[in-house]
Formats: sequence, structure tokens, C-alpha cells
Amino acid sequence: MKYIGAHVSASGGVFNAPKNAYAIGATAFALFTKNQRRWEAKPLDADTIRKFKAACLRYQYTAEQILPHDSYLINLGHPDPEALEKSRLAFLDEMQRCQQLGLTLLNFHPGSHLNKLTEHDCLVRVAESINWALARCEGVKAIIENTAGQGTNLGYRFEQLATIIEHVNDKSRVGVCLDTCHTFVAGYDLSSTQACEATFQAFSDIVGFEYLCAMHINDSKVPFASRVDRHAPLGAGEIGWDCFQYIMQDARFNDIPLVLETTNSDIWAEEIKQLKEWAK
Ligand SMILES: [Zn+2]
Ligand SMILES: [Zn+2]
Repeated sequence: MKYIGAHVSASGGVFNAPKNAYAIGATAFALFTKNQRRWEAKPLDADTIRKFKAACLRYQYTAEQILPHDSYLINLGHPDPEALEKSRLAFLDEMQRCQQLGLTLLNFHPGSHLNKLTEHDCLVRVAESINWALARCEGVKAIIENTAGQGTNLGYRFEQLATIIEHVNDKSRVGVCLDTCHTFVAGYDLSSTQACEATFQAFSDIVGFEYLCAMHINDSKVPFASRVDRHAPLGAGEIGWDCFQYIMQDARFNDIPLVLETTNSDIWAEEIKQLKEWAK
């Protein structure tokens, strides 16, 4: 089964996200459980939690179809101890919010070395942050998103994802979300069926499909290997439709959230419809 959707708005309350997803024909969705550009958030109250769970039931979304995304401010590989602590606490809060909502995945960007740590030390630090958070919550998996590799962001090479996983104690609670745009701009070609074959073989060899827990389905506005993160609508960028058709027809991408973060939300319903056609 392919679960296909988009990162929908939770404005007005997280309980609005399932309805927004349903309205565009989605069978999966992503959301922020708090304002993604702020550190502070008020705790989820019992009424909000109850309404969210009721909406998921009503629109028939289970936890395996839902991919919460954490705040953009968090850096689990931060070189400065105080800033690291702040990020860890914020990350734990995100994990606990997921747990309260009955969700099982939390998607996050691994971290940045800010030119103050070696790449390896930063990756190990990210893994230690994951270990720290996992020990303090239950039932939620840490889902590392591969990045475009802008600036000092790590997680753009499959080897870097593998290094983080290697240092996570409980392998059953760590996974990967591959963003097609990030993959492509990081230097893994996806612009033809053969290119997809080779790129996903490399992922299989270096990380392993057993860790693949989600995908972000995006085209790229910028060229191959440019290490710049600019999403585009499907088929309107440098990747092109072949890649998305390939993913929809390959069973290795079954039963995980496949989430659009494309730039024109007005056409999400059409994009989902097209993807569903190929998934049949
Ligand atoms: Zn992301
Ligand atoms: Zn991106």
C-alpha cells in the first residue's frame, strides 16, 4: 500500500491537519505539532489531544501514515554545550508531543557542525542526542531526514546517515526519511529510471531499506549536485516525473508516509492524484 500526501497546515490547532489532508485526497500527511520557527510552545492540552485523535479516526489516518516534522531551530549536533542542551530539550519536547498525540515517528534534520566540530564528531553528537532523547520518551522513532548539504548541515551523504545510525543504541527506534529534492541536489541522480536504480542501490548498500521510514516527494528548482535546497512542483524541476513514477511502482516504498513538500499547495490534490494513478 502506498500512503501519499503532503505537509499540511495545522493552523488553528493540530486537530485541523487530518481534515486538511483529507480535503486533498491524501492517504498520508506531515505536520508541525508546534510553531516550527519558535523555541517555546504551550503544552498540548487534553482537549487538543482528544480532538486530534478523533479527527484521525474520522478521516482514517493511523500513526504509520503521519509524519510530524520538528522545529527548524533544533541542532542536535551543536558544538556549544549550552546551545546543544537547548536543542535536546526542544527535541525531547517534540518527541513527547508526538507520544501524547499517539504518533510514532518524528522527522528531523540531523544537525550542523558550524565549522567548530569535525564532521565525524558532529555526527556522533547527533547520535548521542538521539540516545539521550529516546531514553526519556516511549513509542516514538527518531526519523533522520537527509539534507541538501547547504552550509554546514550534515546528513547529505548516505555514509553520514549510516554513521549516525551506527552510534544510536536502540536501532529499532531510529529511521531515515529520504527527501528526493535533497537527495538529488546532494549529488545522487534521480533524473531517470536508471539513475534512480543506481541511487537507491547505493542507499540500500550504505544505509539499508530496513531503515527507510518515510519519503519527502519533491522536485528540485536547482540543478543536480548544487547543494542548494529549493523545492519545485513535481515535473516542474530538474528531477522530472520519471523518479516519482519509479517510486510509486516500487514496493520498497510501500507502507510509509510519502509526503509532498512541493511549493504550490493549490496543486497538491492533482499531484497526489497523479502519484496514486502510478501506484495502482
Ligand atoms: Zn525537513
Ligand atoms: Zn528541502
